[in-house]
Amino acid sequence: MAAKLAIDGGKPVLDAKTIRPWPVLDERDRQAVLRVLDGQFLCGGEAPEALALEQEWARYVGRKYCLATSSGTAALHMALAALNIGPGDEVIVPAYTFLASASCILHAGAIPVFADIDRRTYTIDPALIEEKISERTRAIIPVHLHGLPAEMDRIMEVAKKHDLYIVEDACQAHGAEYRGRKVGQFGELAAFSLNSSKNLACGEGGLLVTDAEDLHMRAGMLRMFGDEIDDETRLRVYNASILGYMYRTQELPAALTRAQLERLDEHNEIRIRHCDYLSEQLKGIAGVHTPYVPQECKCVYWMYIVEFYPEEVGVEDLNPEQFRIGMEKALFMEGVQLGQWQTMPVPEQDLFQTKMGFSASGYPWKFTEEGQRMVYRGEDYPNARELCRRYTAVVGFHPPNGMEVVERYAEAFHKVFSDLDAVRRHWQDPVTAHYRGSLFRAK
Ligand SMILES: *Cc1c(COP(=O)(O)O)cnc(C)c1O
Repeated sequence: MAAKLAIDGGKPVLDAKTIRPWPVLDERDRQAVLRVLDGQFLCGGEAPEALALEQEWARYVGRKYCLATSSGTAALHMALAALNIGPGDEVIVPAYTFLASASCILHAGAIPVFADIDRRTYTIDPALIEEKISERTRAIIPVHLHGLPAEMDRIMEVAKKHDLYIVEDACQAHGAEYRGRKVGQFGELAAFSLNSSKNLACGEGGLLVTDAEDLHMRAGMLRMFGDEIDDETRLRVYNASILGYMYRTQELPAALTRAQLERLDEHNEIRIRHCDYLSEQLKGIAGVHTPYVPQECKCVYWMYIVEFYPEEVGVEDLNPEQFRIGMEKALFMEGVQLGQWQTMPVPEQDLFQTKMGFSASGYPWKFTEEGQRMVYRGEDYPNARELCRRYTAVVGFHPPNGMEVVERYAEAFHKVFSDLDAVRRHWQDPVTAHYRGSLFRAK
């Protein structure tokens, strides 16, 4: 007889409390932070840890310049502002991503225009970009989602044809590769996040890269109140020449990031090994689809996405969403750390439905007639919607967790799928199936 499921009162396959948090913090990180505390600087435009981090990250990605920032969102906003994208402009962005990929466009005073995602990769569908282009379009923001690079060849072709900039949102894909080249090398600029959940993490922070000296210069001014540093004296001139922000980093997170960066590749390889193993183990289970990774891509698995298909296992009385919710609950009770992050296409969020904008003024949409006419409808993004009904994100593949966690995850899937009726019985149970924030050292 099959083992009793944990959701029916049986023994869980694993104790979720044994799954250890990310990022891995050890003696090297402690030394890096102490180095700052024992030194002279905590912040500043020429403070040594931030400067060293910028050099190391530029070298790692393969670009000329890097600016360390206070967040990935700040880096994205700086990228658009450095390109002089502003009121009256439009920027194309995928309908399924984290909000900041789109809100950075509003921060710049421009209008986000959404394109649906590819059903298999979940990244922006290049075939759907062209129909979104107007005479106001200035840029495309491809997002390398869940650690998987967007389809850059075709995106760059469209951008070239229509003379558009590319700003890569690489906030989830540190070290991912497309045709052997690291993400962050493809756009005029590219932004990375250092949020504690990301593959390279320090708590909160960001990194902006480019090869263009003028963009680097402008972004540097935008990062610091629009102000400049005098070439000769190396002092701030306290004469803002453009509208800037306060997006600088600090020495403590910069030093911690440097210590983490030394292990980024090693940590990514562990994630890949773990995720590949689970995909292999889940192959034989009908009704669950594992991540698709095109052969030209190296995915670094920020998250591992599975989709549920009740119709493949003859479950007809539950719709895909109900079946997914039941599966999440049953797997969660077995100890698997999972749950949805985005629950709807970004354009369905209230911000885009109400278009209240800055201080409820209706700007930037109000700035142009086209902006005022813009309507955001979830049904225009069927692939993003369909994904949201069927997916869950499984987490915990990061080190220091080892293969023993992945083996238990595989066991939990097999166990739950051997008793599909449990999903019928329990999909409405009052169980909140979600991974803990503390798994990413966030509270
Ligand atoms: C995390 C993330 C961001 C924002 O990064 P923060 O450092 O949190 O500001 C932007 N885009 C995507 C796709 C992200 O996952």
